[in-house]
Amino acid sequence: MLQYLTIPVTPFQQNCSLVWCDQTLDAAVIDPGGDLELVLAEVDRLGLKLGQIWLTHAHIDHAGGTAELSKRLGLPIIGPHEGDQYWIDGLPMQSVKFGFPPAGHFTPTRWLHDLDRLQLGRSEVTVRHCPGHTPGHVVFHSAEAQRAFVGDVLFAGSIGRTDFPGGNHEQLIASITQRLWPMGDDTIFIPGHGPESSFGRERRMNPYVRGT
Ligand SMILES: [Zn+2]
Ligand SMILES: [Zn+2]
Repeated sequence: MLQYLTIPVTPFQQNCSLVWCDQTLDAAVIDPGGDLELVLAEVDRLGLKLGQIWLTHAHIDHAGGTAELSKRLGLPIIGPHEGDQYWIDGLPMQSVKFGFPPAGHFTPTRWLHDLDRLQLGRSEVTVRHCPGHTPGHVVFHSAEAQRAFVGDVLFAGSIGRTDFPGGNHEQLIASITQRLWPMGDDTIFIPGHGPESSFGRERRMNPYVRGT
């Protein structure tokens, strides 16, 4: 079964998550935006074998620590979708603009596409391409654990911003209703910021997508 631990990082309190197979302890880190020492301390404490970096999208608070972590531990960078290439190219500029430590450039080892599958020990997650917040945004879904790591697509009570270059509100709503809701009302999602919720709860309560 897939296990996870969420660690808020960076001044934006971005929910970086460690995910692992509880049988083999093979682990991936989702969105290492920064504060790598915090994240690596948890890897050690839990005795995980950290082997992959998974990215939902290439905003600085999600991807800012990627180049350094990949280089330090020799980890492959999986994702996001190639629609985020220009956000990756812009990481050094994003780090200056938002007062982050300098973010190095990187080239993903593997771009992700809708319905790709990723293996973690004996667990498997499915990738869904969910554009709207950024063009190359992806989410990671474990049907077995009924969990989805959705980055900045959906939050408890809110949805992702679409006022950045390449953002698209209609596309974001379509991503939520056509690619997240089918995962089921009981699925718990881990958003990029703030507390967890379930898709069912958001369908009832979230003013941006209520009743969809
Ligand atoms: Zn974002
Ligand atoms: Zn974010």
